[in-house]
Amino acid sequence: MTFAIHGLAVARGIAIGRAVLLAASHLDVAHYFIQPEQVPAEIERVRNGRNAVVQELQRLQVEMPPDAPAELTALLDVHLMLLQDETLVAGIKHWISERLYNAEWALVTQLEVISRQFDEMEDDYLRERKADLEQVVERILRYMKGVASPVAAPPPPAPTAAGQQELLPGDGTDVPLVLVANDLAPADLLQFKQSVFAGFVTDVGGKTSHTAIVARSMDIPAVVGARAASQLVRQDDWVIIDGDAGVLIVDPSPIILAEYGFRQRQIELERERLIRLRHTPAVTIDGHKVELLANIEQPADAAAAVRAGAVGVGLFRTEFLFMGKGSHLPGEEEQYQAYRQVIEGMQGLPVTIRTIDVGADKPLEKGHKDDHLNPALGLRAIRWSLADPVMFRTQLRAVLRAAAHGRVNLLFPMIAHVSEIHQALAQVDLARAELDARGVAYGPVRLGAMIEVPAAALLARRFLHYFDYLSIGTNDLIQYALAIDRADESVAHLYDPLHPAVLRLVADVIAAGAELGKSVSVCGEVAGDVAMTRLLLGLGLRSFSMHPAQILAVKQELLRADTRKLVPWAQQVLESDDPAQAMEVLAMAQEKSASSY
Ligand code: PEP
Ligand code: MG
Repeated sequence: MTFAIHGLAVARGIAIGRAVLLAASHLDVAHYFIQPEQVPAEIERVRNGRNAVVQELQRLQVEMPPDAPAELTALLDVHLMLLQDETLVAGIKHWISERLYNAEWALVTQLEVISRQFDEMEDDYLRERKADLEQVVERILRYMKGVASPVAAPPPPAPTAAGQQELLPGDGTDVPLVLVANDLAPADLLQFKQSVFAGFVTDVGGKTSHTAIVARSMDIPAVVGARAASQLVRQDDWVIIDGDAGVLIVDPSPIILAEYGFRQRQIELERERLIRLRHTPAVTIDGHKVELLANIEQPADAAAAVRAGAVGVGLFRTEFLFMGKGSHLPGEEEQYQAYRQVIEGMQGLPVTIRTIDVGADKPLEKGHKDDHLNPALGLRAIRWSLADPVMFRTQLRAVLRAAAHGRVNLLFPMIAHVSEIHQALAQVDLARAELDARGVAYGPVRLGAMIEVPAAALLARRFLHYFDYLSIGTNDLIQYALAIDRADESVAHLYDPLHPAVLRLVADVIAAGAELGKSVSVCGEVAGDVAMTRLLLGLGLRSFSMHPAQILAVKQELLRADTRKLVPWAQQVLESDDPAQAMEVLAMAQEKSASSY
């Protein structure tokens, strides 16, 4: 039966496909598609794992001392019974041969399916057997990882890719797949970048959570904050993600499917139309040149930025180079290569490299939630870097060296105090001195600060004495100005880029830049929101940085804009108690007067 689950719209478009439920994170396994010819070998791997556990348990049964508690014997019986159960075996074979999942993925998928059946049981005793099933599956997984005795020892660190959730493309399935999970760390999502997933849905998360941001950068439809989606959707259900409305439709009827199929084709046509704007200069009707830059998370994203016609990278979120790497954080050389790759990929266009911004909803380690009392207000961004100057200078040296290969802007996240400016700049000087001492070449960098906390916005003029440019991070600025955790769906309705206080802060920073003749850009999500383009232009913004996928839509908007009309209009919006309503009313009035504004 068709039903809909409502969440938050975070990445636009329509995805239609079968649901892949990501298993509970404590059974953290590799996920990838196999080739059809690998099916027998994958089935064999599970079979071997299962047989080994059966033998192990049978041995334990035999060796059980006569005075062993009866519960223990009963438990072994239950585990053996579960292991030999046909539903488990048949299901695993199905996922491997029909969906081409790797053995571990098939195993946890089937675990999920059977767990649901247990959950629905009336009988308490049977319902509780779910935990036994999980233990049994865990044992098989350990055997498959090559652990000699699953009873004796915890699993060793996973070899290479195992243990990381890898979802890499395979040519095995034509059915579009849609990922449904309780939560996904930004680092998980990064691994999906080249995956076959057509969209994703999570139970938790806010509009500007980093998981949502990565989804937008992947340009696949996504809905977050869909509360119980991962409970209500079953493995392999047909689902539709409406990324514009923030809705997940489960088990759609043929009529609904046809309707969404039609809309999907319309969106495709609109995209093709926009591509024609790629080489069109971004200039308003009245001749103002506007800079459209790209936000990227990985060196490989530079290609998408160039393809979209970006005139540079306005924000390289370097923390993604560090995430999910365990204790092997990238050193100076590895970072230098990554930055150089972006600079060269951008073919002479400027690249803004932001120093590492971990903490809050971007933990270094996937699955490790920041357990500080209040992570968004804790040790993150520049605070984290200044707390570890050795790590910080390693990054600075890598950036300075890469700057020898092209135009580089260095950007510090979340600066709030003038003392932090002094410390950060002193570290840059030290990094240069260290390179000098080693006789290593480096290039010049323009220095900039992100304006992400209200305190910084209020001090923008003062900050500009130290910096060449500012970049407004509206995601955090809104979070801190309105005191809402950007990753928390329960306060997501309070996230409001049009809050008069937010607009005032943004307008003041733009005005400060204009007064002092220094550039100010916006690199938060509002920069890529076409509903905000005219207002930002009216407030004087001439530099926007966004996901490459949004660049052409924003360009289309500004090509139709006339700042001579937008400036007075934006001032009226700024003065209003209800800017959202004022925007609507004034836009309607402008339309009536039939003039382009
Ligand atoms: C922001 O806060 O607006 C920003 C661009 O930085 P991030 O989203 O990476 O925190
Ligand atoms: Mg930020």
